[in-house]
Amino acid sequence: MEHIVIIGNGISGVTLARHIRKLSDNKITIISTETDYFFSRTALMYVYMGHMKFEHTQPYENWFWEKNRINLVKGFVEKVDTYKKSLKLANGSLVNYDKLVIATGSKPNKFGWPGQDLDGVQGLYSKQDLDALEKNAPNKEMCKRAVIVGGGLIGIEMAEMLRSREIPVTFLVRETSFWNGVLPDGESAMINEHIREHHIDLQLDTNLKEIIADEDGRAKAVTTDKGETIECDVVGLTAGVTPNIDFLKESDIALGKGVKVNRMLETNVKDVYAIGDCAEQHEAIGNRGPIEAVWYTGRMMGEALARTLCGNPMEYNPGHWFNSAKFLDIEYQTYGWVFSERNRKEYEQHFHWRHATEKICITIAFHKESRLFLGINNFGIRMRHEIFDKWLTEERDLDHVMEYLRDANFDPEFYDHYEQEIIFQYNSEYGKSISPKKKGWKRILQRI
Ligand SMILES: Cc1cc2nc3c(=O)[nH]c(=O)nc-3n(C[C@H](O)[C@H](O)[C@H](O)COP(=O)(O)OP(=O)(O)OC[C@H]3O[C@@H](n4cnc5c(N)ncnc54)[C@H](O)[C@@H]3O)c2cc1C
Repeated sequence: MEHIVIIGNGISGVTLARHIRKLSDNKITIISTETDYFFSRTALMYVYMGHMKFEHTQPYENWFWEKNRINLVKGFVEKVDTYKKSLKLANGSLVNYDKLVIATGSKPNKFGWPGQDLDGVQGLYSKQDLDALEKNAPNKEMCKRAVIVGGGLIGIEMAEMLRSREIPVTFLVRETSFWNGVLPDGESAMINEHIREHHIDLQLDTNLKEIIADEDGRAKAVTTDKGETIECDVVGLTAGVTPNIDFLKESDIALGKGVKVNRMLETNVKDVYAIGDCAEQHEAIGNRGPIEAVWYTGRMMGEALARTLCGNPMEYNPGHWFNSAKFLDIEYQTYGWVFSERNRKEYEQHFHWRHATEKICITIAFHKESRLFLGINNFGIRMRHEIFDKWLTEERDLDHVMEYLRDANFDPEFYDHYEQEIIFQYNSEYGKSISPKKKGWKRILQRI
């Protein structure tokens, strides 16, 4: 029986532990510093917004861990000695391991802005950040304005959280249009409009210059590179995340931006592995980045590594890219690859449809010569992940996707009229005469 020690009780570490327990009798210890028990990081915003209590973000009852013989240690790992196979915790205690898995996630980026460590300046990542926001921005009387720096998915979540308490928000975004490094221009423009309609003061093409302190050392204002000074009571730093690996700098584990791993999730040191946000693939898998800071890939890495550690070696193989998020109340899903104008592949062409009045649109990417379907972005329309995944695997072309779009629709009756518009536009743009067909999504998927 081996002792497998996991640093980090996020989705990747906990998935790994659960699966090792299903597959073996190995001794399992999870060491983590943030909270006693695993919680869903993606649900943090709903706690602040009053939709749920923090306890409700914990998917397992507290007895689950003992019952499954998963030993939980609350502590911060300061040092890893891979020669002695031992860890030193901040409280001075030592923990020995046979196999070590680093699953320490990410931390919010700070780019050396003057004032970035003042009171009232915070990220939105951890339970501690949630508590800090509750303190820094309890209500609109105590927090007259918040400034958020960095226009990605976490930034817009933070804006939504603060607006739910009617706190005025200024959102500083470096790009000329929201998230336009990822979203095609039409979608990015729609989200700009949507943010502003939600009374968020979106300032595009604007960088934070400095955070100014009051006499008690608390943030009281920011200045921007446009020469503006904005008074505020809280500053949210949401300009992306980086792997949380500073504690490994003196170890002999190879590091890049994250912990370097191969497809087996092995590091350069025998018996040491890394998974989740902190793992960096030597070579990116397909169009994915070498570091993937998303929930489901952490889960997949945990599942794959559990098999490897239990004697059934398995590569990490994430399949076709997908992701989902929310931009305030607009649901967004992406399946396959749809690149922004800035990152567009030279073979990639887009078909874009936007509803005349509502904030609903889709963009389909396809190969301009072969017309191979490459990916789809949906805003405000829910489409079935499994269907697009299958079409990507089967290398369907754009006409096929258009013809059977109804089968991909999650709620066909409700959205029927959108499809007609989409296909009408497609036919007129490309001189086609496609009429919608239906096989039935269950029938399509049965054949997988
Ligand atoms: C607000 C927010 C919303 C998000 N929403 C989405 C979403 O909608 N969809 C999506 O796909 N992804 C989302 N993400 C990203 C997703 O949550 C992460 O990809 C995922 O949580 C990473 O899991 P992980 O197991 O790698 O690490 P983490 O969840 O970061 O867990 C790592 C744990 O290790 C601990 N730790 C770190 N260093 C040490 C150490 N030296 N000693 C002991 N413990 C240590 C940390 O404190 C932490 O608790 C969101 C992230 C945030 C912050």
